[in-house]
Amino acid sequence: MDSEKWGIIGGGIMGMTLSHRLSQKGKNVTLFEAASELGGLASSWKMDDVEWDKFYHVILLSDFRTRNILKEIGLEDELNWVETKTGFYINRKLYSMSDTIEFLKFPTLNLIDKFRLGLTIIVASRIKNWKRLEKIPVTTWLNLWSGKNTFNKIWLPLLRAKLGESYKKTSAVFIWATIQRLYGARRSGLKKEMFGYVSGGYKKIIKSFKETLIAQNVVIKTNHSAKAVKKLSTGKIEITFKSGFTEQFDKVIVTLPAGISAQLCQGLTQAEIQKLNGIEYLGVVCVSVLLNKPISEFYITNITDSWVPFTGVIEMSALVDKKYFNGNSLIYLPKYVTSDDKIYDQSDEEIKESFIEIFKKMYPWIKQEDIKFAGVARARNVITVAKLNYSENLPEIKTSIPDLFIINTSHIKDGTLNVNETVRVAESKLNEILEKS
Ligand SMILES: Cc1cc2nc3c(=O)[nH]c(=O)nc-3n(C[C@H](O)[C@H](O)[C@H](O)COP(=O)(O)OP(=O)(O)OC[C@H]3O[C@@H](n4cnc5c(N)ncnc54)[C@H](O)[C@@H]3O)c2cc1C
Repeated sequence: MDSEKWGIIGGGIMGMTLSHRLSQKGKNVTLFEAASELGGLASSWKMDDVEWDKFYHVILLSDFRTRNILKEIGLEDELNWVETKTGFYINRKLYSMSDTIEFLKFPTLNLIDKFRLGLTIIVASRIKNWKRLEKIPVTTWLNLWSGKNTFNKIWLPLLRAKLGESYKKTSAVFIWATIQRLYGARRSGLKKEMFGYVSGGYKKIIKSFKETLIAQNVVIKTNHSAKAVKKLSTGKIEITFKSGFTEQFDKVIVTLPAGISAQLCQGLTQAEIQKLNGIEYLGVVCVSVLLNKPISEFYITNITDSWVPFTGVIEMSALVDKKYFNGNSLIYLPKYVTSDDKIYDQSDEEIKESFIEIFKKMYPWIKQEDIKFAGVARARNVITVAKLNYSENLPEIKTSIPDLFIINTSHIKDGTLNVNETVRVAESKLNEILEKS
């Protein structure tokens, strides 16, 4: 083994991928995670007697980097591919929008509006040069291609649902990346959605990934919350943990959200701190519900009605075999909010109550006694707001402190937040670091 000692802070997919690739190159790696288990946003939790992802996750056919990791950790054969459907909830009614005929029957839009909506999707899926879209507000771009009517009836409610009021400062790269990802999920010709999951969910992925890391001699230290990182006069980088424990490394990579990384790393320049703090995040509050019956045939139901407090309805059991949920249906009700939103002051009980009340209004055949479990998961720094000229204002991976690097999902500049993009950033940025050092 190479004697160079690397410390990685953050045991989510980013930190795990970095540790995996570094250890494959023979580096001596220690991975630190604040929680008691690895996984971060991709970790699982218990809902009564069911254990599944805390936040809903699917794998797309085009997620080649994720699939490659699955192969390396021995889970390739555990992937299941399922044809799924998409629904829309508009003016208190559910509609299917999963093929061309359903698209043509779609309510509230006339034929010209529908044509323009379809055209927008085709145009976005054909654009290769995303860079010029960074200069255009998403609202301007969508109005241009879809027209005012379609924008107001479809895009605006969807943008609000996904980005809150931050949609106003978001560039057209956001919608381009979203359409590109979903379009890639459709098989050419059939235009059907194929989504995938691993039997056992991310719990199994994280477990196998962890076992692979251990087999590659990565030292994993959970319950280690980093408090400070600094360069010593000896040239080593020292990490201090909340417990008071310290450890020294030749090189350290921090994978935490930009603002938190700025607080952690001591000795950064003012310009670096400003750039890191300039990255804005959206958080998510997500209610999971276990029900004794299905609610629809849709994996995703997009919502355009503004009286519904959540962004969409994700029926995991429309994708995943119900045997993993003991025969129940698993539904997620996510809401994306700015990280200072008042919802974070509400208790889990308050959030559950308000979301489930509306959920029951949307699906009036659901009774309280059908609900076997409801729980709230929250995360504050999840998706970065893709503002105008986003990629030009990103902090450098290599900080001004020699041997200290910050790599996180804010470096996804031409994609949506997902595991595949997270792996892509980890792998490509690590190559940059290793080539230069
Ligand atoms: C609601 C939701 C739905 C999603 N759906 C999908 C999907 O369908 N498909 C898909 O591919 N992806 C999806 N994703 C995205 C995916 O979960 C992320 O891309 C990925 O998990 C990001 O990993 P990360 O390591 O960058 O961040 P994180 O998972 O946030 O990891 C950071 C880690 O650092 C730890 N940490 C924090 N502070 C400290 C500290 N001081 N010291 C040490 N450790 C610390 C945290 O505990 C955490 O484990 C979804 C995410 C969410 C929230």
